Amino acid sequence: MAEETFFRKIIDKEIPSDMLYQDDFVTAFRDISPQAPTHILIIPNKLIATANDIEIEDELLIGKLYSVAKILAKQEGIDESGYRLIMNCNQDGGQEVFHIHLHLLGGKPLGQLVAVG
Ligand code: 5GP
Repeated sequence: MAEETFFRKIIDKEIPSDMLYQDDFVTAFRDISPQAPTHILIIPNKLIATANDIEIEDELLIGKLYSVAKILAKQEGIDESGYRLIMNCNQDGGQEVFHIHLHLLGGKPLGQLVAVG
């Protein structure tokens, strides 16, 4: 069974975050180390450690991450200019926190999809 990360404490508001959205299923907050003018993390309230752990019963929940991303992109004023949604998985994907999250990045041209090195 996967271990809870500090994202649980952010969901439960036990540690502070710049939270932008929360409902019974999804929480979104600004990344502490933004890589673009808009950098928001959108996470399921339920612990799913990696993309490899997504089950069929999670399909609606995963879809909801994207619906919330769309709302927040509009709220941030980047829906028309554009943005990128990324979910890293495991070591080569650069995943650091093992509670899946969509990175919503935008507010400037984001360049190449993959930075190597
Ligand atoms: P990953 O590398 O797992 O895809 O992304 C983890 C993200 O969590 C990183 O972009 C990192 O900056 C962010 N992060 C790490 N610690 C904190 C924190 O305490 N608060 C917030 N809001 N974001 C964090």
